[in-house]
Amino acid sequence: MKIAIIGTGYVGLPSGIGFASLGNDVVCIDKDETKVSALKENKLTLYEEGMEALFFKTVESGKLSFTTSVKEGVENADIVILAVGTPPHPQTKEADLRYIYEAAEELALYLTGYTVVANKSTVPVGTGQKVEEIIKEKNPNADFDVISLPEFLREGYALYDFFHPDRIVAGCNSERSENVIRTLYAPFDGKTQMLFVKRQSAETIKYASNAFLAMKIHYINEIADFCEKSGADIDEVAKGMGLDKRIGEKFLNAGPGFGGSCFPKDTTAMALMGEKYGVDLSLIKQTIEGNKARKEEMAERILGMIKDLPNAKIGVLGLAFKNGTDDVRESPAMDIIASLIEKGARVKAFDYQATKNAQKVFEDKIEYALTAEDVFKGADAVAVLTEWPAFQSLDFEHLALLMNKKKIADLRNLLNASELKKLGFEYLRIGSF
Ligand code: NAD
Repeated sequence: MKIAIIGTGYVGLPSGIGFASLGNDVVCIDKDETKVSALKENKLTLYEEGMEALFFKTVESGKLSFTTSVKEGVENADIVILAVGTPPHPQTKEADLRYIYEAAEELALYLTGYTVVANKSTVPVGTGQKVEEIIKEKNPNADFDVISLPEFLREGYALYDFFHPDRIVAGCNSERSENVIRTLYAPFDGKTQMLFVKRQSAETIKYASNAFLAMKIHYINEIADFCEKSGADIDEVAKGMGLDKRIGEKFLNAGPGFGGSCFPKDTTAMALMGEKYGVDLSLIKQTIEGNKARKEEMAERILGMIKDLPNAKIGVLGLAFKNGTDDVRESPAMDIIASLIEKGARVKAFDYQATKNAQKVFEDKIEYALTAEDVFKGADAVAVLTEWPAFQSLDFEHLALLMNKKKIADLRNLLNASELKKLGFEYLRIGSF
């Protein structure tokens, strides 16, 4: 099939690589010229483990190409996938749909033959309808359907999730568009559950799923707070809960709060959609507020370890919102660092992939270490803020010698508590007495 993908970011790029590797002819379109030039020069614009090899292979095979021209990508496409950003609107905090609507206006003129316009961006209920109206108005003769094709990939596992999705959800309102989607996903036949639903249902499934996962994280964080007072241990509690198949073990890792480009904005958008329809989504609202407060409180916990030290020097391990990605959008680490510097602390941070993106935000407000070891030098405390597994194998016996004070705030419960205590560290973790 001929596929055009508009928006070549964390969703568009892995999807493009994935569909191209299945033998489709894919053109990835982006209006960001720097991004497209880099991709044309065989340089990846984001980090995802394992992506580079497949990227080179699909480009070399001629199945994947890049352009800034909507016309070039959309003409002759069987499917046009929208994968542009839907960030929170600066004022209303609802999903900002300007990029979706712009893309709809741009693509309308170049549709040729019957085309499915599939929306992979996360958008409020009713957006598919609006996109349909925009295209009809711009090009009354176009033969097309607008469907909702929500994306559930996890950053850090984007390609794995592309090839092994838990489910494929498509909100189609015509048999023709359903057939196109069945052909597109034919390689997944018998391996993955395909769910064809109303367009509004597909749009809702994405938000309802993300809000549920965010609530699960917030729930385990509240239980962690309870454990800290009651003498229980959150890791033991989470394990015991997760063995119940009705609950499941995933998303039960207590930590500094959820972040990333999806959960914060999608929970807010869902709560606001509820208000629009007169429904009080109180659980989601509490989750949003509780999570914000938690990130603020995490900075206090770190500073609490070093008490009244003016200009304390804090080493930070991790900037990405989770391991496996270079994405710092709404990262708890970034929010916690912002709080720390606001309160007068000096921060030196290290991340395996996300330093460049963090530099764009903090510029010279913090120092950037080239190695994980470097953040320990002269630090009054070190905080673990992203769960990169490689932090577990640092030589803490040696690192203890580099620190001003031997204190570690492990807000991801990543490190070996008994080993660190044996080495004489004052060690703080989440959810234990
Ligand atoms: P992103 O910011 O990484 O990428 C979006 C890209 O779209 C940018 O490169 C931007 O330049 C481009 N763009 C915007 N308007 C354009 C236009 N008119 N023409 C061409 N290009 C245009 O965003 P993302 O993280 O890939 O997210 C995309 C959507 O997918 C969002 O709605 C998001 O909520 C959803 N989503 C994201 C994830 C994730 O893990 N990041 C997972 C599932 C769903």
